Amino acid sequence: MAWEFETDPEYQKLLDWADDFVRNEVEPLDLVWPNEEFVPLTDTRRKAIDPLKDEVRKKGLWATHLGPELGGQGHGQLKLALLNEILGRSQWAPIVFGCQAPDTGNAEIIAHYGTDEQKKRYLQPLLDGELFSSYSMTEPQGGADPTQFKCAAVRDGDDWIINGWKYFSSNAKTSAFLLVMVVTNPEVSAYQGMSMFLVPTDTAGVNIVRNVGLYGEPDNEGLHALVHYDNVRVPAEALLGGEGQAFAIAQTRLGGGRIHHAMRTIGFARQAMDMMCERALSRHTAGSRLSEKQYVQGFIADSYAQLTQFRLFVLYAAWQIDKYKDYNKVRKDIAAVKATMPTVLHDIAWRAMQVHGALGVTNEMPLFKMVHGAAAMGLVDGPTEVHKATVAKQVLRNHSPIDDQWPSGWIPRKREEAQAKYAQFLELEMGNL
Ligand SMILES: Cc1cc2nc3c(=O)[nH]c(=O)nc-3n(C[C@H](O)[C@H](O)[C@H](O)COP(=O)(O)OP(=O)(O)OC[C@H]3O[C@@H](n4cnc5c(N)ncnc54)[C@H](O)[C@@H]3O)c2cc1C
Repeated sequence: MAWEFETDPEYQKLLDWADDFVRNEVEPLDLVWPNEEFVPLTDTRRKAIDPLKDEVRKKGLWATHLGPELGGQGHGQLKLALLNEILGRSQWAPIVFGCQAPDTGNAEIIAHYGTDEQKKRYLQPLLDGELFSSYSMTEPQGGADPTQFKCAAVRDGDDWIINGWKYFSSNAKTSAFLLVMVVTNPEVSAYQGMSMFLVPTDTAGVNIVRNVGLYGEPDNEGLHALVHYDNVRVPAEALLGGEGQAFAIAQTRLGGGRIHHAMRTIGFARQAMDMMCERALSRHTAGSRLSEKQYVQGFIADSYAQLTQFRLFVLYAAWQIDKYKDYNKVRKDIAAVKATMPTVLHDIAWRAMQVHGALGVTNEMPLFKMVHGAAAMGLVDGPTEVHKATVAKQVLRNHSPIDDQWPSGWIPRKREEAQAKYAQFLELEMGNL
């Protein structure tokens, strides 16, 4: 029985290379061009970034989120997890390795459901890192529940006309196209009545009303667009998959998106952990180093245990995806990993921040941003509470109620049964007394 926790030595060499490369060549980009990784490259920036992408390509680590059967050059989700935990340390690293969210998820559904023409027009440039995309699903009146969606498309001859509002369409302002989930048949349930369209962002009627920022970012300069689709006319060929298939497509996309966020979060949380340990060993106060205070030792031990549990869980979920090649079969564990992620990141980043004292909460350290990032992770690709409900439903499928007023773990009945089973020995014992 194979039951191992070791990385194939050849792939480990590539991971070691990626670790050094990200530290020395890519992490500095986060400081010279912060929060600009989704801005299309100027000629000057291209001169800096393209050679880095070429190095990644030469190592065979470019865009490894899709397998060869889908047009990528992936090694599978388990190996991607090991790579992504390195890339998760840096905002620019996923761009330099061609596997940034939300483009990975978007590429995945175009690869699965797109026509040859759609793949040529959208998938190939996306895999080549030549354009960005946006996923436009959430609406202002409700994100977690697609049955609330109102943005709709109606047929007009060979065309469709889209009208409605979408909220938090990340990267819409720099994207070449949007994947928009809309109601196409209000007569049936939302699960059968919604369709997905590929809409070029420069189509007439696509109005980005505001670019919403996260807390601390300047007004209207954020990444998350409020989009008004105002009589947006698209041809029938803009439909991705069949009419009414949007829900199934969204599940494919979100399965990959969620686990990839979790993979990167391992790297992000480990970075916070490393900072906490360095500070604990370096700072001397009240007669000893911080690392000698029991409370701080508790912070470190709890963080180590949380991070290790989380990492193993993510790797296990990734291994299952490779095994079954079906996100749906791994739904319970993907949802559980997604629901665990915000707490793990929050707890470790918060402890690291606390150990840094006042410096920790300043904008001269990345720790508060990590804590805040944990809050966002509790919503991106669906709220934690909804994922927990999914986990609970899946877990309960393997259990059944008992038709008795006493639970099956009730000791008096179990003892009686055990005594009946071993009655002859109990009687012998009694006789020997
Ligand atoms: C940084 C960031 C990036 C995002 N990017 C995108 C994107 O690119 N494209 C896109 O379409 N969307 C995006 N989103 C939106 C995200 O998918 C939604 O925020 C999420 O689905 C929740 O929807 P909502 O915000 O409308 O909250 P609501 O649906 O109003 O839910 C609010 C809260 O109610 C509770 N709740 C809701 N439903 C249930 C339930 N069934 N059971 C128990 N409790 C429940 C939860 O506590 C939940 O947090 C992004 C969000 C963030 C924060």
